[in-house]
Order: sequence, then structure tokens, then C-alpha cells
Amino acid sequence: MTLNFDPRAKAATLYHGEFRPMFIGGKWVAAQSGEEMQALNPATGEVLATVPRGGASDIDAAVAAARAAFEGPWSKFSPYERQCVLLRIADLFEKHWEELSVSDTLDMGLPITRTLANRRRVIGMLRFYGGMATALHGEAIDNSIPGEIVTFTRREPVGVVGAIIPWNAPTAASIWKIAPALATGCTVVLKPSEEASLTPLLIAKLMQEAGVPDGVVNIVTGTGAEAGSRLAEHPDVNKIVFTGSTLTGQTIARAGVTNLKRVSLELGGKSPIIVCRDADIDKAVPVAAMAVFVHSGQICIAGSRLFVAREIHDEFVRRVAEFAGKLRIGHGIEAETEIGPLINARQAGKVEGYIKAGSDEGAKLVAGGSRLTGELYDGGNFIAPTVFGAVSDKMTIAREEIFGPVIPALPFDTLDEVVARANATPYGLAAGIFTTTLGTAHKLARRVKAGSIWVNMYHAIDPAVPFGGMKMSGYGREGGIEHLHEYLETKAVWIQTD
Ligand code: NAD
Repeated sequence: MTLNFDPRAKAATLYHGEFRPMFIGGKWVAAQSGEEMQALNPATGEVLATVPRGGASDIDAAVAAARAAFEGPWSKFSPYERQCVLLRIADLFEKHWEELSVSDTLDMGLPITRTLANRRRVIGMLRFYGGMATALHGEAIDNSIPGEIVTFTRREPVGVVGAIIPWNAPTAASIWKIAPALATGCTVVLKPSEEASLTPLLIAKLMQEAGVPDGVVNIVTGTGAEAGSRLAEHPDVNKIVFTGSTLTGQTIARAGVTNLKRVSLELGGKSPIIVCRDADIDKAVPVAAMAVFVHSGQICIAGSRLFVAREIHDEFVRRVAEFAGKLRIGHGIEAETEIGPLINARQAGKVEGYIKAGSDEGAKLVAGGSRLTGELYDGGNFIAPTVFGAVSDKMTIAREEIFGPVIPALPFDTLDEVVARANATPYGLAAGIFTTTLGTAHKLARRVKAGSIWVNMYHAIDPAVPFGGMKMSGYGREGGIEHLHEYLETKAVWIQTD
């Protein structure tokens, strides 16, 4: 792909192993403990920068700053003024989009063409919720004694929001949480993942430049166990919005009980892709393959159970394997790279364990299956795109979220059977359906239990469309108008007029 800038040159200007402070109450600060942690490039192992290892006392300071801003200057902003702030942030994101994308690529490995392509998801979200800021309203309820009582509702911001995000999409995950908070008049303490803290700090700089008052957005870098857990249990946080693993989501939901804070959870998945007998195979093969391989499988919506009608299973799997073999794997900073590294050595080891389990349990390895070595891959965590055929539902690779570039393909015979098998998982995040029959598309879309269903496509996400999971993939939705309601309280007001 040809880009109109040189990502390597841009990367050379960004990080040089220096200390990057975090952002609390409008000030750039170190952790109160003075501790730091390293931000590593997963493609090379080099230290990009160090950041504060914030802990409970830093979270307390950030929550206090967020509370003061919520009760103080931010509460004086009219919806129109909040709208203007969001639109100014969007303009600054346009201006700095290459820098933000390069930063994400360096910090978590997703190829530059893909981080750049997230533009609409991120800037569109800022503008979408910017527009919504002036569209929030309560209702007059005509249910009282005429002439004596007037009743209406007000929509008020829920207060201080704690946002905890994973490492695999730092820019998008930050904005998907900050934009609705600003639109509704809330304030935010955001804790990025310890694996990818750098871009959220750049985002804080742009927020400051856009005129977001001090304390409205705070970024505390640190680990989940230290900073994250304090934020989740903090008695002065009104809402937690979390994206990450199901296990951590359960811990966060439990922690929220302390003050009964609102919690919304975007969690893991084991999303099925169903390729029917009548699917357009030429179109389905690349989409089904990239439904997992994009970001080396490290996406929550990875289509990581590939159900294929038995009649076409062998041909389909052969073609997915052929596709996998042609993908260009390397440093995300190169424009031609299609697949980048895994986030760290621990995750790469975990994925290798799943590949071994696939082989040991009798699945047929048809592509990949090993770590990539050689000069290009030195210091990084690269695993070849891997495809297993003839997988059965009981195998570990068909049941557990792998979060790596591994496709287990499972043959099926009837639609009733595949619906039952697709739904036989604790998760319910997304599903893909490939068919050329309209009726089949509708039937499956209705019967498969998942928050997003894509037919003859995959991965589409839009600011105006709700996204989220069912079952153990979480609750709450991001995107769309209903997302805003999660940041709002409804107050009923009764006025006696006589
Ligand atoms: P993770 O759950 O390990 O970490 C996510 C965040 O939670 C990090 O910031 C981490 O520091 C923090 N955290 C960890 N323990 C905590 C605790 N006890 N209290 C408070 N915070 C804590 O997840 P990850 O490895 O960063 O991301 C991968 C997971 O995220 C996968 O399961 C993936 O499916 C999921 N994910 C889901 C979505 C979605 O929208 N549904 C999107 C992206 C990723």
C-alpha cells in the first residue's frame, strides 16, 4: 500500500526511550511512588519510552481531580460548548492522525495501514458524540393533575467515570469511552493497559490543546492489579466502563459492588463464522481468514470458530490456508506489512501452547503452526498464521479464546445443527454468516446469539451502530445513541403549581 508519508521517519521522531509523565488534574506528573515501567515495541523488543507506574494514591488524586472538575468548571459548560470541545478534539485528531497511528503501531504492533484505517471509528466517534451533546433531553410527562402538577425528566451526567482499556486498540478504546463522557458532561479517569500506555498520553495532550478543562480527562498509567483495581473499587467513581478479558471483567463487576457503581463490560469472545454451502467462496475466503488474522488474532471479535458446510469444508480450508501462506508478516511500521507481532513473549508462548493442543488433540494442521525466526523477526513475537481443519467442538482450540493467529475450521451438516453449535459457548460477542440466500441470512442472524452479526462481511464497526456482547462477552453497548444513556441518570421532577 502506498502512503503519503513515511511511517519510519515519523516513528523516528516519536519515542527515544525517554520518560513520559501521566496526566492528572491538567498536570504532567510522575507516580507518587516514583516507580516507572517500560513501554516496549512488540516487533523489536526495544524500549520506546518509560511511563509512571501509577498506583492507588495516583488513582485517588485523579479521581479527586475528576470530581472537582465535574462539580466545578465542567458543570458550567453548556451542551453546545461541550459539543465545540469535542469537535475541536476531532479537528486536532485529523491534524495528528499519522502521529497517533504510528504511536499505536509502535506500541502494540498493529500494522500502520490498519491503525491509519481506524480514522472513521475514532474521529467519527468524536464527531458523532459531539453532535449528540446538544441532542440530549428529558421529557415532559403529561400524567399529573392538570393545572396543579407539572412532571418532567432531566438527563444528568452520572459523574466521574473510570475507564479501563486493553492494549489492542488504545486510540479507539480511549475515544470510545472519553467521547460519550464528554458529550454527557461526565469527567474521566482512564487507565490504559500497561502493555500500551503511550498513545493515550498523546491523546491527553490533544485534549489539553483543545481546551478540555483541567481534571475533565485524566490518564493514569499503571498495572491492573495496582491502579486498575483501585479505580474499579473507588467509592467516588460513579461508573466503570471496561474493555478487556472476561476474567478481569468479572473482577471489576465484583469490585463495583462497594458503592454500587454502574458497570459496563466489553469482554472476550469465541465468535463463530458460518460458511453455508451456497456461500460465494471467492468472497468468503479472504474475509473469513482476516476475521482472525487481522492484528494476529488479537481482537475481541476474532471469528475464531470457522464452521464450514461439510460439502465445501476441504476446499474452503485449503483456500484459507493458501491465503494465510501469502500474508506478509513483519514490523507494523512498514506500509506493506499485513500481519504484525503478538503483544509480548507471554502471549506468544500461550498461543504456541494452543497450537500444540490443536495438534495433540487430533486437529489437522494445514498452515503455519510455528513461531517465525530470522533476522526480520529478531526481538519480536511473531507466529505464522495458522489454520487447523477437521476440528471438533470439544477441542481446546474450538472452545477457548486464543487471542492469536489461529483458525480452527469445523465441518457442519445442517443449519439447525450449526446454530446449536455456534451458540454452545459462554460468549456472545459477534458472528459472521456467509450465504447467498436471503432467507438463510435472516434466519441465522435471528438465531445466533451475539451482539453483532455480519452477513457476507465482517469487522464493520461504526460510531452510530451499537457494539457489545451477550452472555459472558459482557453487557452494555458502545456506539449509537443508547451508549449515551449509560453515562446519564434520569431524574424525575414534580412541581406543584398551585
Ligand atoms: P485484560 O483483562 O488483561 O486487561 C484489560 C485492562 O484491565 C488493562 O488495562 C489491565 O491493566 C486492567 N486490569 C487487569 N486486572 C485488573 C484488575 N484486577 N482490576 C482492574 N483492572 C485490571 O485484557 P487485555 O489482555 O489487555 O486484552 C485482551 C482481552 O480484551 C481479550 O479477552 C479480548 O477479547 C478483550 N477485548 C474485548 C473487546 C470488546 O470490545 N469486547 C475489545 C478488545 C479486547
